Amino acid sequence: MSWETVIGLEVHVQLLTRSKMFCGCSAKFGDAPNTNVCPVCLGMPGSLPVPNEQAVRLAVRAAYALGCTVHGRSIFARKNYFYPDLPKGYQISQFEEPLATGGRLEIASPERGVLTVGITRLHLEEDAGKSFHDRMPGMTAVDFNRCGVPLIEIVSQPDLRSPVEARAYLVALKQVLKYLEVSDCNMEEGSLRVDANLSIRRPGAPLGTRTEVKNMNSFSGVERALTIERDRQIAGVERGEEIEQRTMLFDAAANEVRPMRSKEESHDYRYFPDPDLPPLVLSDAWLRAEREALPELPAAKRERFMASFGLSAYDAGVLVGTRELAEYYESVVAEGVEAKEAANWVMNDVLSLHPDDVQRALPPAAAAGVIRLVKAGTVSRQAAKRVLQELDARSASAALAADDALRVARELGLIQVQDTSQIETWVRETLEAHASEVARYRGGETKLMGFFVGQVMKRSKGKADPKAVSAALTSALEAPSGEN
Ligand SMILES: [Zn+2]
Repeated sequence: MSWETVIGLEVHVQLLTRSKMFCGCSAKFGDAPNTNVCPVCLGMPGSLPVPNEQAVRLAVRAAYALGCTVHGRSIFARKNYFYPDLPKGYQISQFEEPLATGGRLEIASPERGVLTVGITRLHLEEDAGKSFHDRMPGMTAVDFNRCGVPLIEIVSQPDLRSPVEARAYLVALKQVLKYLEVSDCNMEEGSLRVDANLSIRRPGAPLGTRTEVKNMNSFSGVERALTIERDRQIAGVERGEEIEQRTMLFDAAANEVRPMRSKEESHDYRYFPDPDLPPLVLSDAWLRAEREALPELPAAKRERFMASFGLSAYDAGVLVGTRELAEYYESVVAEGVEAKEAANWVMNDVLSLHPDDVQRALPPAAAAGVIRLVKAGTVSRQAAKRVLQELDARSASAALAADDALRVARELGLIQVQDTSQIETWVRETLEAHASEVARYRGGETKLMGFFVGQVMKRSKGKADPKAVSAALTSALEAPSGEN
């Protein structure tokens, strides 16, 4: 009998604000250690926190985009614990009355198709500092720049059923947050962090005892760590052991999970409402305005691309991958190119020049110009790729217009020859040069047609229209011998 895996994720996301959650210090990543600090984020006696309106706004947008109910009144609470990177001795978070609850996120599970994952809650909090154990020999160094940086924590329902689904959830979540410009979701810089709860059970049985898995530094790391932890739990239970509820740390280098020392684990946070911060009260009008300001989200955009451009689910999914890519594609279509044609060119050719940077892609008008040249039969598909490359190289130094595609095709001598007599000459020359292949073809080896087309194209230096070449070859080869 098989096991079912049950996974829920807690994701911390750093909000894209200039300043911290409760003070005016810069929230920028990578500044010299301990330079972005003040009495508020260091927790000096007598200092008072003031919430950052932009952070609240971004959190509310994320909550609405995830279909949550946003509460007009929420409470900031102190989460008390001692750690060297936490100078205040507590983190300001939200506990009993969070900003938002009860949302959902649609994901594309590789195993179960499109499904909806419940979001339990989304709340605001501040980050702690960072300890470095490898900067100075025999010592631990602490950087307080991160203290007080605004975060949201997004807690999912235990709706995920495999490590690969957990990864799909993260991909979908990151996509939505990036569309909203709520966070850059850069895992390497710590602006997106994931903790997971995982348990196993027999299908239909009540939830098993769960462990928490931490210290996963990439989406692939999440998938690997959860696979290892799932296999560890199954092997343990099948040996007759009981799962202990505890925290496991992933070690990416060793490719293993191991229990955290229990001393580090024993938490009693003694949450209580922060006496320095009144309840966070958001008016209905302000909330409504934020809700109405939401951009079109990936799922809706994908549906629209399928409905109005006739794209397949796969193509639409690729093109809405990022907001920038979707906008780029739409502006190519707006240049008057057929939508499916534009989709193929954008996905296969334009993007291949700058795979990770749509900003550097060819201006839409120039890209549309190339697509039109192919459509009109002015250049071959192959030649058009060269035109694209040349335009791309030139676009670095000059602004391009729609008619530049034709100009470049002429300059490079790529205009396709459709002149029948010129093509017939090339065909005749080719057949004369390959008399033995002609004899074999006429003897029944018709697969040599590809060879002949290739030879004629070569003779034309790629300028002949391959369709016209095929037609001319067929009529020449089918003709009774002697006529050539
Ligand atoms: Zn500060």
